[in-house]
Amino acid sequence: MSDPRKDATNPADELGPPTPRARIRRVREKLLAWYDAHHRDLPWRRSRDPYAIWISETMLQQTRVETVIPYYRRFLERFPDIGSLATADRDDVYEHWAGLGYYSRARNLHNAAQMMVADFAGNVPSNAEDLQKLPGVGRYTAGAVASIAYGEPEPVVDGNVIRVLTRLLDMRADVTRKPVLERLWHEAGSLARGARPGDINQALMEFGATVCTPKSPRCKRACPLARMCHARAAGTVDELPNKPRKKKPKPVEAVSVWLPRGNRVLAVQRPETGLLANLWEFPGGELERGEEAKAHVERIVRNSVGLEILNPTYAGTVEHIFTHRHLQLHVFRAAGAEGRVGLNGYQAHKWIAPKKFDSLPIASLTQKALELV
Ligand code: SF4
Repeated sequence: MSDPRKDATNPADELGPPTPRARIRRVREKLLAWYDAHHRDLPWRRSRDPYAIWISETMLQQTRVETVIPYYRRFLERFPDIGSLATADRDDVYEHWAGLGYYSRARNLHNAAQMMVADFAGNVPSNAEDLQKLPGVGRYTAGAVASIAYGEPEPVVDGNVIRVLTRLLDMRADVTRKPVLERLWHEAGSLARGARPGDINQALMEFGATVCTPKSPRCKRACPLARMCHARAAGTVDELPNKPRKKKPKPVEAVSVWLPRGNRVLAVQRPETGLLANLWEFPGGELERGEEAKAHVERIVRNSVGLEILNPTYAGTVEHIFTHRHLQLHVFRAAGAEGRVGLNGYQAHKWIAPKKFDSLPIASLTQKALELV
């Protein structure tokens, strides 16, 4: 079997001519028929309200469908329309996002709602170009909202769509290269042109999520496109899409401390920019390479919040892999702290009731630390 990675030379030569219209038509018909028979009944699919569709598409970025469903319902109950979201308090928006992660999405939703009120007469823009003027709305979300809510023939390309298309076309070039990705947008655009563009986009994504899956795709038993699939004919299904292997993330260790005073506990807010911007966490900081957590936890807390902690005891370690870093966070529990708070590297702090901690905007890493203590 050929190695797609070795074949990936000049994408322009390798990609060949775009898919003929007749084949596009057949793929559309089969996918739509499959979608009509098999699509999942999801709450946002019952709505044609552009606002609700925009909220769902934003929540679905980086988050699984099952996780999103209860958040989507709660969020829409509290902020049923653009006006209620635009005029809401930022903390209230964050509170209804708490636990969903990637809080920049909540901030962008809030800012975008205000922009819709100011610049779009209180409506969700109806075309992909205007949609992309909103904070947090990229090419994918703009295509999804324009096609699903407004029936515009705009494509979407996400990980599922890339997988389905590269396999259908046996496209072996490196999909992280711009011309290759552009070609995929072009193919997705051809598919979106015609009746029911929103459904064809959802069909492609749903098909990628449930049939043409990364591992063990259901080619034999459940695929309506099997006979038209070039990768299946060529035996390259398991090798596509061709994505170069990522570099291993750098290992980093840090400490963080559950720090009570009376019946409150200290929460600190990260800076406005950088990793986990604006999120709240326990005070702490990174260890230098080779430093032992127990030996340095007091110094690190003194440097970051100016307090002398009393009797820190080790509670456990939680891990998280960010794009470039593999973080091990050693969590401690202190008996108390002396001194006055003086922040270094944080933008704010508050002493809050322990059970209120998880209603703050926190990262999933802090959620794991919270479960430990
Ligand atoms: S035959 Fe397999 S690889 Fe090809 S489209 Fe169907 S599920 Fe995907």
